[in-house]
Amino acid sequence: MLKLAVLGSGSSGNSALVCHKETRILVDAGLSARQLCSRLTEIGVDPDSLTAIVLTHEHGDHTRGIDVFCRQRRLPVYATTHTCAIVREGMKAGVTWKQFEAGNAFQIDGVKIESFSVPHDAIDPVGFRFECGHSSLGILSDVGHVTRMIIDRLRGVDTLFTESNYDEALLQNDTKRPWATKQRISNRHGHLSNEQTAELIGEIASPSLTRIILGHLSSDCNTPELAARVIAARLRERGHEEVTVECAGRDRPIPLVPVVHEAIYQSRFSEEIPAKSARVCEPSGAAANSPAPMAPEWNQTEWAF
Ligand SMILES: [Zn+2]
Ligand SMILES: [Zn+2]
Repeated sequence: MLKLAVLGSGSSGNSALVCHKETRILVDAGLSARQLCSRLTEIGVDPDSLTAIVLTHEHGDHTRGIDVFCRQRRLPVYATTHTCAIVREGMKAGVTWKQFEAGNAFQIDGVKIESFSVPHDAIDPVGFRFECGHSSLGILSDVGHVTRMIIDRLRGVDTLFTESNYDEALLQNDTKRPWATKQRISNRHGHLSNEQTAELIGEIASPSLTRIILGHLSSDCNTPELAARVIAARLRERGHEEVTVECAGRDRPIPLVPVVHEAIYQSRFSEEIPAKSARVCEPSGAAANSPAPMAPEWNQTEWAF
C-alpha cells in the first residue's frame, strides 16, 4: 500500500515522500538539503535510500534543495521537459534526468504515476496521481484554479495532499502585501483559497477517501484551524464525516502514514474480482481511471550529466 509523509509545506519550502515497500519517491525538494536529510531521518527514512525525485514545477520553494541533495547521491529526477530545462540550469549535481510530457503516465518500480497539467505561473506545472497495490494518492500543489481535468484525475483517491493557500478575507485585508502580490496569489494562475480547495474536495470525494492533508498555507493569510474547518464543513455536507483533515506545516514533518485505513484496505482484497473492477472504474471517475494504455515508460529524451 502507498504511504505518504510530508517533510514540510509552505512558501518557504515544500517536499513530500511517497513510499511503497522499498520504493521511496520524493515529490519536490524545496527544503535545503540539510533539512531534507534531517526530516527524512526524523521520520525514519535513510536519505541515501531514496529511489527518485519527482518535480511538480520549477519554483524555488519546490526545488531549492535538489542540487546539493543530489551532489551527495545519484538519483534520477523526473520532471517535464520544460521544467527540467529550467531546473538543470546552474546545477552542479550529476543528475539523471527522466523527462516526461505533462499528461503522460509513467512508472517508478511498481508505482504508477499519472501527471496532469495545472494552471499556475510556472513553465509547465503538473499534479500527480499515484496508484499502487489497490491504493491511490493525489498530490496537488500551486494551482490558480480548479479545472475539470484536475477533478477528473483526482476523483476517487484514498488520500489527497493539496494546497489550501489562503483565506479570501484575510488576503484582502492583509496590509503587508502590495496589491500586485495579492493579485498574483488570487488570480487564475496563483494559488487556491480555502473555499476553492473545499470545492475541489467536494467534487473528488468518494467513499474511499480516507485522509486530506492541506499544505502551502499562507503564514499571514490563513491558519491551520481555519483551513481545516472550511474543508471539514464541506466534507460533512457531502456525507464524508470520517475523513481525517490535517494541515502540513513549515517546520515539522508529518510522518509516513498509509493512504488507506487498514480495515478498508483489507476489505479490498476480500472483494470478488468483478467488484474490484467496479471500484476501479467508478462511473464518475472514468476519465481518471481510464483503462487507456499507459504511455511507454521512456519514449522521451533521457540523458545523464
Ligand atoms: Zn509553491
Ligand atoms: Zn509555484
